[in-house]
Amino acid sequence: MKVAYWPGCVSRGFTPELHGSMAKIAPLLDIELIELDRGSCCGAGVIAEHSQELADTLNARTFALAQQTDGHMMMNICSTCQGAQTECQERLDANAEYRAIVNETLSEDGLTYEKGITNKNLLWLLVEDFGLDELRSRVKRPLTNLRVGPFYGCYIVRPEDRLGIDHVKPRDTYLSLLIEALGGTVIEYAGMHKCCGFPIVTMNKEASLKQAGRHLGDAKDADADCVVTPCPLCHLNLDLQQPGAEKITGRVLDMPVLHLPQLVGLALGLSPKDLGLGRHVVKPTSVIDWSSSVVAGVGAGDRGW
Ligand code: SF4
Ligand code: SF4
Repeated sequence: MKVAYWPGCVSRGFTPELHGSMAKIAPLLDIELIELDRGSCCGAGVIAEHSQELADTLNARTFALAQQTDGHMMMNICSTCQGAQTECQERLDANAEYRAIVNETLSEDGLTYEKGITNKNLLWLLVEDFGLDELRSRVKRPLTNLRVGPFYGCYIVRPEDRLGIDHVKPRDTYLSLLIEALGGTVIEYAGMHKCCGFPIVTMNKEASLKQAGRHLGDAKDADADCVVTPCPLCHLNLDLQQPGAEKITGRVLDMPVLHLPQLVGLALGLSPKDLGLGRHVVKPTSVIDWSSSVVAGVGAGDRGW
């Protein structure tokens, strides 16, 4: 399957192990990535606060670049990109007059956005297009006995109607389905569909870290070995900021946070080092130990980082 690939700016900057692990799993899943390297930041809802038309135009430009490729659809690896881009697309697709105004701006770049692009997060693509049975058949190292807590990030689960979540496409359950298909144990906990607190980190750091700490503490209380997220911004608040969350909540959390392609990559047989697991602030020792203990040939003392 060929996709127009939108990595988002965070996966190229703050969390390069996300982009790197996506690049590693793609060939194992026969997914050809046509990277949209001329695309610009989606704005993450922030640009829209100042100029809605500018945010819509930036995303229409990215959609138009995707439509110039021969990819089956556009794919992203960031819940926040999914939410921000879906919102812009909804406005663009609903109004031909507005689309014409935006396309007038894009014409300077030789681009036009035709309504109706399909833009899916990797999570949606794996479940709906690749298929869980196919994924199961490619698992080389089932995540047996690995207890994984899903963390979605709010932009990929709300609002439900805009994101196409219904009984036919229960996208707010897909992480659980995926963990099961990879052979892992799903650990449900109170905060799995809640906001990680990232958007308020610059305005009220204490409240933001309390939020992150509460969700991680819930996952710990439910006995998770790690959590997994399809959102690099959630990853920043849950992993990078975890030492601060521990201070504020007054408890040791020590909860590894994996990017979605890293979890998939482990099950496909890639090494923790290939997947950049050693780059995380909270070293995923429980996951590495699990991985080392099930991989023949990885001896004691070689943790594969
Ligand atoms: S949501 Fe974030 S990571 Fe994604 S492109 Fe927009 S600003 Fe970048
Ligand atoms: S970063 Fe936080 S606010 Fe953003 S999608 Fe993730 S959960 Fe939501």
